Amino acid sequence: MNGHKKEQRPRRTVFRLAATLSIVCVSVAFAVDPASHDIRPGYGVTETRWLSDYLPELANTSGDTPIYMMRGESEGGTLLLLGGTHANEIAGVMAATLVVERGAVSQGTVIVIPHTNNSAAQYNDGTRHPGTPDWIELTTSSGEKRQFRYGSRLTAMEDQDPDPGMFVHPLGGEIPGQEARNLNRNHPGKAHGTLTEQISYALFQLAAQEGVDVVIDMHESSTTSRLAYMLVCHQRAMEIGAMATLDLEMDGIALKQEVSREEFRGLSHREFGDHTDAFAFLVETPNPGQEDAIEHPDVVNDPEAPLSGRVHTHLRTVKAILDNYGFTVGPDGKIELGYPFSLDALKGNDLGTFLR
Ligand SMILES: [Zn+2]
Repeated sequence: MNGHKKEQRPRRTVFRLAATLSIVCVSVAFAVDPASHDIRPGYGVTETRWLSDYLPELANTSGDTPIYMMRGESEGGTLLLLGGTHANEIAGVMAATLVVERGAVSQGTVIVIPHTNNSAAQYNDGTRHPGTPDWIELTTSSGEKRQFRYGSRLTAMEDQDPDPGMFVHPLGGEIPGQEARNLNRNHPGKAHGTLTEQISYALFQLAAQEGVDVVIDMHESSTTSRLAYMLVCHQRAMEIGAMATLDLEMDGIALKQEVSREEFRGLSHREFGDHTDAFAFLVETPNPGQEDAIEHPDVVNDPEAPLSGRVHTHLRTVKAILDNYGFTVGPDGKIELGYPFSLDALKGNDLGTFLR
């Protein structure tokens, strides 16, 4: 077999080279570099991948995004942790970034995507509060200033076909057309759909291929929304969610708990719970940048809801969910994620000093 292959090789190489050149020429014309971000993987990251590893069509599009794999020394369960499903909800983005930079996994696997909808990360969709910035700046303990994008709720308009009059989810429900660009209305996505549907589809491919057991999607709402400080749980995840909220309450974090509603299709907690074996959760902290009543929101240092406090709420909730997931599945299935500092130290301190 080998000898036969060798004889054929020179001719095939010529054909392959010609084919490759024509592909390169075509893809140079249309290739898009996905937005890049200042993320500095720490000791806990064992491998970096791309979302396009799970759906090759996403490569060279603004929907591609880095994925950070954090494998512990011992086997256990697998967490998929999502930030930036909505790119203006920066506490989720920064909580995921902090896990990548400082987190350590001793058991199981944690898969982190800080910019889940990367098309939305460098986009201002015009519905954002006028006072919100395009970037936030955080100062590290060495005095370095680092910048992080403040994006939008929706996929950039130029990245997909014009919005339909109404967006009809394949599993039911009709919502305003612009929601066709809302990643958290498009799950479980489509392989050959819009960019937003492809991002979703790739996430579901990842969940299947990596055997994801827990999905946590980190969001923010306006400060006065009923969603602020909410933990939304798929019905199979309600018991773990209830135990987690009790733990958090004893720690001074009052999260409300809500079950994912059957009739609202396309949301991560609904569709990951329905289409995978994972326990699916969505966490909401209050972001002053989403509050219309606040004219010049300070999305980092707001005295009522500082970014470090919101990141604390997210990461403390992740811990409470993982602890109680561990009680449910037993010692062999646990997922242990830790930090070289106490999470409580985030409260009242500058987030930048915890980054690398
Ligand atoms: Zn959101």
